[in-house]
Amino acid sequence: MPDIPPDSHYMQLPREVLIGNNVAASVGGTLDRLGFSGPVLVVTGPKVMSIAANIVVDSLKRSGFKSQIMIAENATTAQVAKVQREIKRVKPDIVVGVGGGKDIDVAKLSSMKSGTRFVSVPTAASHDGIASPVVSMKGANRPYSYVAHSPIAILADTSIIARSPYRLIASGCGDVVAKYTAVRDWKLAHRIKNEYYGDYAAELALMSSRLVIKNANSIRAMSDSGVHTLVEALISCGVAMSIAGTSRPCSGAEHLFSHALVMIAPKPALHGEQVGVGTIMCAYLHGANWQLIKDVLHLVGAPTTAKELGIDSEYVVEALTKAHSIRPERYTILGESGLTKEAAEKVASITGVIE
Ligand code: ZN
Repeated sequence: MPDIPPDSHYMQLPREVLIGNNVAASVGGTLDRLGFSGPVLVVTGPKVMSIAANIVVDSLKRSGFKSQIMIAENATTAQVAKVQREIKRVKPDIVVGVGGGKDIDVAKLSSMKSGTRFVSVPTAASHDGIASPVVSMKGANRPYSYVAHSPIAILADTSIIARSPYRLIASGCGDVVAKYTAVRDWKLAHRIKNEYYGDYAAELALMSSRLVIKNANSIRAMSDSGVHTLVEALISCGVAMSIAGTSRPCSGAEHLFSHALVMIAPKPALHGEQVGVGTIMCAYLHGANWQLIKDVLHLVGAPTTAKELGIDSEYVVEALTKAHSIRPERYTILGESGLTKEAAEKVASITGVIE
């Protein structure tokens, strides 16, 4: 965090956003335009190396940049430390994260810790971490997330994203639809706990959720405009977090439920899939239109039940009862003492998440 007066509000936003077919080939030109000239460290995952990282490296070469590639095997603190050591050795002018959410998170956190800026080149639209300043990492006992820094540029290549497994796209829809309850939780925390609340960031997150709901059919059909809408929505959610300076507009009780599932379920599903199912149940708790959320998730082909998540009902119920304790400082509709087992069973069965 920079040195800012105590009562001011700090926002760090991306400077350039490119969304469209073949934009991964524009990374070199973008860095050039932004005034970078030194070596570049490309952080990527083993799976995306041949799909996207090579395109990025070629583009850097064409623009006269020297680059080094580093493969991040997973998103752990040990991996982040490894990349930090590489940053110290290579002394890059900028770090470029190419890959899924985990690869981007490793690039985001290691670059922030090293005081280097970074560019995000997502190869999947599975969650909003591709554009946000927030990092999610697996801790020793619980998953944790905190505000790192915003990418200076985001290049979302829709031709690469459209070739990713459809399950990732459906998961991305779940993460965007979640803003429907995340913003309600944020408002509640503002009313009850006096927490900072920003209308602009909240409305931006809600607008993304509304647009995905409205365009569910074209996303399911994987039309150009459908994929574009989802990517834009995920990036807007990232920007909403940058404006708020917290993940609040994008992450409420539905996210706590998903984090709890990651801790207790033997085989968790994807982040956006779990969060989507959490949104159905949290919308019910808020007295909001949970059926609409369920219908939209069903329409885009995302899971709406424990069975579809591939997770036993007992873990869903347990996660609901434990969610409030994952991040006690984050006040949500679950309150300070959480749901009882009976209440959790009731909300899960009324919404049809469990049988
Ligand atoms: Zn999320």
